[in-house]
Amino acid sequence: MNIHEYQAKQILKEYGAPVSRGVPVLDAAEARRAVETLGGPVWVVKAQIHAGGRGKGKFKESDAGEKGGVRIAKSEDEAVAFVEQMLGKTLVTHQTGPSGKQVGRIYLEEGAAIARELYLSLLVDRETSRISFIASTEGGMDIEEVAAETPEKILTFSVDPATGIQPFHGRKVAFALGLEGQAMKQCVKLIDTLYRLFVEKDCSLVEINPLIVTESGDIKCLDCKMNFDSNALYRHPEIVELRDETEEDPKELEASKFDLNYIALDGEIGCMVNGAGLAMATMDIIKLYGSEPANFLDVGGGATKEKVTEAFKIITSDPQVKGILVNIFGGIMRCDVIAEGVIAAVKEVGLQVPLVVRLEGTNVELGKDIINKSGLDVIAADNLADAAQKIVKAVKGGA
Ligand code: ADP
Ligand code: MG
Repeated sequence: MNIHEYQAKQILKEYGAPVSRGVPVLDAAEARRAVETLGGPVWVVKAQIHAGGRGKGKFKESDAGEKGGVRIAKSEDEAVAFVEQMLGKTLVTHQTGPSGKQVGRIYLEEGAAIARELYLSLLVDRETSRISFIASTEGGMDIEEVAAETPEKILTFSVDPATGIQPFHGRKVAFALGLEGQAMKQCVKLIDTLYRLFVEKDCSLVEINPLIVTESGDIKCLDCKMNFDSNALYRHPEIVELRDETEEDPKELEASKFDLNYIALDGEIGCMVNGAGLAMATMDIIKLYGSEPANFLDVGGGATKEKVTEAFKIITSDPQVKGILVNIFGGIMRCDVIAEGVIAAVKEVGLQVPLVVRLEGTNVELGKDIINKSGLDVIAADNLADAAQKIVKAVKGGA
């Protein structure tokens, strides 16, 4: 799960990490009060969306200003004007994809006097099963770019969970970042703080880009991206509260309510499959036969008729879907339950696109029988390759 920059900074602040003063706002009146509270003389107006690269991003609307989603204002009026320009507009960055994200709130922050911009992040390294740090002197730009062009400028190491975070870890980062004096001490403390925060809050990523050295020689977290392990959210009600549903794909949101494992993709063939492995294989074979999956969907082992109906509704609500492939191996799941679910869903929402169904396993004959007797225009398939070929053919025209 993702949260906004202003929420991440609130958590950083609670842990005692250095952040700037700021106020999130939803409209011009709130912005006016916030700029007065902050006092200036420089305000930074920051669009809050779940994507990075805002500073270099561009708004789709021409009246939103040319300068992207992070703007420096030199007067109260200018700051409020920037807020008004950005609110409700669509910001496109290299992380949002071409459709962009609508800006629903703005973070107003005091301007910092920046001497240097650095990079610091923590993530779960799946290879070592440990928390890793990444630090670089090249802050404010994409770490992927730094890694590709100047990998020698990146320090990475992981922390042994048995001994935990130690002062030498902090000194290692401070040395790599060229920090001295008070900044070095602050860095050692920050590394300790971030590690603790990461573990206690079950994060999967904390990225501070940039971490800055101010002109007075202090370090500060100027931007923060924080992601959390969804499987651990049950023990963090305070994090769940930070969820911004407007940032999520509505289809994925709907799917999560029914406990379906659904990820929206860009292709044209909607897939309904049971089991993550079979779902991956189905996506692969659709690609093999020349098309693209519109989603990943694992209805799970214990799916009910209602769950299957919901899954089907979510798939058909996607205007990109030009055909549907139902691929079920009935192990725990019974084929007749799937068949009933599909039929109930088709009766409820109608069927505008070709549908190929491949059933195998428990009660397969019963399942096929239910579908055949339903009178629906369903294309039956005998195996995975046959099913994929049939749906691709039907979608590409010719069937
Ligand atoms: P993004 O990564 O989405 O572009 P950032 O928060 O990193 O957004 O902001 C982009 C750049 O704007 C930063 O690299 C920094 O140079 C500048 N900036 C951001 N916040 C402040 C601030 N409070 N004071 C001064 N400059 C800022
Ligand atoms: Mg940034």
